[in-house]
Amino acid sequence: MTITFRKVTVLGTGVLGSQIAFQTAYHGFDVTAYDISDEALAAARERFAGLTKAYQRDVAGADASKTEATAAGITLTDDLAVAAGEADLIIEAVPEVLSIKRDLYGKLAALAPERTVFATNSSTLLPSDIVDFTGRADRFLALHFANQVWKFNTAEVMGTEQTDPAVFTAVVEFAKAIGMVPIELHKEKAGYVLNSLLVPFLNSGIALAAGGYAEPAAVDETWRIATGAPMGPFQILDIVGLTTPYNILSNGDDEHKKLAAWLKQNYIDKGKLGAGSGEGFYRYDK
Ligand code: NAD
Repeated sequence: MTITFRKVTVLGTGVLGSQIAFQTAYHGFDVTAYDISDEALAAARERFAGLTKAYQRDVAGADASKTEATAAGITLTDDLAVAAGEADLIIEAVPEVLSIKRDLYGKLAALAPERTVFATNSSTLLPSDIVDFTGRADRFLALHFANQVWKFNTAEVMGTEQTDPAVFTAVVEFAKAIGMVPIELHKEKAGYVLNSLLVPFLNSGIALAAGGYAEPAAVDETWRIATGAPMGPFQILDIVGLTTPYNILSNGDDEHKKLAAWLKQNYIDKGKLGAGSGEGFYRYDK
């Protein structure tokens, strides 16, 4: 049987959840967005207002009336029963904390209809870390977006061994329907495709500079000229922001911890946190 989705609920309206909700609504789906408090819902409204501007700037054909109608069309609620009650697909984008996610799926399992498919946007947890709490192992998988979904439009689709292939296919089709390029993983992999490539690449760049082998600008220049890529590792790190790579390296082995210490001492402690702070490895106009 072909599975199709019409009503989509997004849980968590932070950085990614707000973007996923907006992108889904922009492509004509019936979207409900859930968060835990009035403050969080007020922040969601602000984020949607910001996204109307970003889409007008970046997306061909996204005019004021279409983007404002998109924002206005998203139902916001802090009632999980309302959010889950009629959803065909629920996309979860709550904080990257295992206990929060497990607790939420435990509640959802009881509130959502049996047919509802659950998808997690988790960046670092595996769906199999959560599957036992979903009450629907065959209808659960990861659907992982990249920040700024309207521009950087990959959607990595990754199931567990228990995910029904028909559910996997339906989520791939959904990703296409909301303007994403679906990237299908055949089995679970921490970091999916993108971060499995990107994190070691960025760490190798940091190791070259931290080891005193070459300046960050020279590392970037090498990569750009020799491969034709538009950006080197330090340009990418500045866009990502230095805090996340610092946290990832701090959780690693002794070599990684040394790289974390180098980032902290030379950049983070000096307020050089990346492009968003005006300076990282490079300086930016605020
Ligand atoms: P965020 O902190 O910006 O947003 C999290 C939202 O969840 C907040 O609005 C918060 O109020 C809400 N929340 C907290 N507890 C909740 C609960 N019990 N139920 C529902 N909502 C709850 O986080 P984010 O950066 O949007 O990340 C969310 C998820 O998306 C994480 O799993 C993260 O790994 C993943 N992700 C993030 C990025 C990124 O670049 N930020 C990229 C891809 C994937």
